[in-house]
Amino acid sequence: MIFMRIDEILNKKRTLSFETFPPKKGLDDIDKLKATLDELAKLNPDFISVTYGAGGTNSKGNVEIASYIKNHLNIESIAHLTGGPSSYEDIDRVCAELKKNNIENILALRGDKPIDYESEYCKYFKHATDLMEYLSKYDFTLGGACYPEGHIESDSLKDDLVHMKEKEEKGAKFFITQIFYDNEYYYRLVSEARKIGIKSPIIPGIMPLTSPKSIQRVKQMCGSTIPLNYKNMLEFYMDNPKVFKELGYNYSVYQIMDLLAKGAPGIHLYVMNNVETAKEVTGRLENVIKEYF
Ligand code: FAD
Repeated sequence: MIFMRIDEILNKKRTLSFETFPPKKGLDDIDKLKATLDELAKLNPDFISVTYGAGGTNSKGNVEIASYIKNHLNIESIAHLTGGPSSYEDIDRVCAELKKNNIENILALRGDKPIDYESEYCKYFKHATDLMEYLSKYDFTLGGACYPEGHIESDSLKDDLVHMKEKEEKGAKFFITQIFYDNEYYYRLVSEARKIGIKSPIIPGIMPLTSPKSIQRVKQMCGSTIPLNYKNMLEFYMDNPKVFKELGYNYSVYQIMDLLAKGAPGIHLYVMNNVETAKEVTGRLENVIKEYF
């Protein structure tokens, strides 16, 4: 099996990728997640990412799952890693585990301080760029996060873009965006990023809204704007769970087809361990995936 790092895959083709997370109940649930990953693998993604639990929890699951994806399913994996809760020793330990398991891609992040987190946050790594700089002593392909609507802590998109450029300078070879529902934010981000010289591929992150609860989740997680016409439809179908789901999948398909038509380098689906979501969206895009990925 010949593996290519994510930047190498992006040089050759459009990527389809899925985001997953380690089991919340710890490693007891790992078999269930492995069964989920087996199903996701059948959809032929170019890579699968594994989040690093908020506050550094589930870090063990992170490497084990990334390893299962790479070494058992033969699919490129990318481990997320957050500097906020980590010390230099923590990062060295995780990197050693990643190396041992032949995992070559890291999405280097700061993370957010959980409300109940008691230790000092960002003691060693104030920003994702500090983590990227530290990781430069290892040979990993690094990716970074970016924000079509601007990061919540940034005063302006312009400020945020300056830091995005720093991420590229510190080694990020590609970016994955925060979830968005209005593609115009993505196009603006790409256009402004190119103007200031950011050259790396910017992969749009898409997450279908499949239930009223998922709207709340997105609100809490990142507060992405939902366009008024979509909001009106979501409200209209709110009491019909089946139709609501159908709307969520179809809206994501519409977003993806528009993004591809305008040159997006790939699609990152925030499937969040939900096989149905992955199947429904990719199933509706069967011919598109055959022709355009
Ligand atoms: P940073 O790049 O440090 O940015 C945070 C803020 O600081 C921004 O406003 C930025 O403009 C500003 N900034 C950046 N650099 C500097 C600087 N040098 N000086 C001054 N200001 C600066 N969280 C998790 O806990 N686990 C995950 O697995 C995870 N996966 C994610 C995957 C993706 C694709 C995305 C988009 C987000 C993910 N997150 C995850 C959430 C992420 O940790 C938060 O969005 C966090 O608030 C910012 O992380 P960052 O890496 O972008 O931080």
